[in-house]
Amino acid sequence: MKYDITITKTTTPKAKPDPATLEFGTVFTDHMFIMDYDEGPGWHDARILPYGPITLDPAAAVLHYAQEMFEGLKTYLTKDGGVQLFRPDMNAKRTNRTNDRICIPQIDETFYVDAIKELVRIDKDWVPGAEGTSLYIRPFIFASEPFLGVRPALQYKFVIILSPVGPYYKGGLAPTKIFVEDEYVRAAVGGTGQSKIGGNYAMSLKSQVKAHELGFAQVLWLDGNERKYVEEIGTSNAFFVMDGEVWTAPLSGTILPGITRDSTLQLLRDWGVPVREERFTIQDIADAHADGRLTEVFASGTAAVISPVGELRWVDKDMIINNNEIGPLSRKLYDTITGIQSGELPDTHGWVVKL
Ligand SMILES: *Cc1c(COP(=O)(O)O)cnc(C)c1O
Repeated sequence: MKYDITITKTTTPKAKPDPATLEFGTVFTDHMFIMDYDEGPGWHDARILPYGPITLDPAAAVLHYAQEMFEGLKTYLTKDGGVQLFRPDMNAKRTNRTNDRICIPQIDETFYVDAIKELVRIDKDWVPGAEGTSLYIRPFIFASEPFLGVRPALQYKFVIILSPVGPYYKGGLAPTKIFVEDEYVRAAVGGTGQSKIGGNYAMSLKSQVKAHELGFAQVLWLDGNERKYVEEIGTSNAFFVMDGEVWTAPLSGTILPGITRDSTLQLLRDWGVPVREERFTIQDIADAHADGRLTEVFASGTAAVISPVGELRWVDKDMIINNNEIGPLSRKLYDTITGIQSGELPDTHGWVVKL
């Protein structure tokens, strides 16, 4: 390992939650990882500590100008009691691409994965085993330098926390209702749509609240220029099955390059299902729906893995997809990806990393 990690274990371990009542992101484990960055030494002082508050100067740059990035991945308990990660190298790579976009210093990708593994090893007993549960890993980096001028900070903290989670949607694989956002936008060409940063989420909340008030689970984002091209769904990438082909927006800078999206495309290609990573409009979707050519819609992301869409509302048009039932591709993708993640299916692509 490139850097040594100093370990201080808690003397007051917490009680583990009941796996049956786990929600998303409400309970945290006994330990956390922290590492500092200062100009000169670079990244240094990697340490694992008892989970707890972080002291920040009120002038810390992140609190004023939002120089912050985050990642999300999961670790699973296998039937034989092993613990495994899913494609953590992809999160490390995406971290550095995000860092580059918002001027956070690069981080050693091998060390990044090692730090995750070391923390998970220490809190291994927190990985839940019940169906649909996992240990969610949240690495994040923020500008901690106390300075109110606008420029890239000279000090950062890289932190990893862990949270045992249940299924993301309370209804499990039940199809969701999605509101097509025709007022607010998430990303513009040349902006930060492809970066996993807190700022992208702060400005999405207004729209999410609106969708919730109207009875929808999430929003579908259209492009920031014409509000015409389909981009993604909330915190996940969006897939549409039309005429037996699977369509998803291309990675042209405004879309978050999801690791579940990449895995989904790979599996579809393995299965010989035609995929189209091309631009398409919400009108194309409405037309296909009207003609009965739109057979399935689903979202992909770490939190929910594959989430079928049962209904799309676009202005005054309500489109019911596949009778509001889970489609065969959504089901097969969900079963295959979660099967690989939990070790029940063979890992033919080398996606699994055992602890
Ligand atoms: C994280 C994220 C995704 C999904 O990425 P995964 O790597 O599959 O979890 C999709 N869209 C947005 C906006 C995201 O932040």
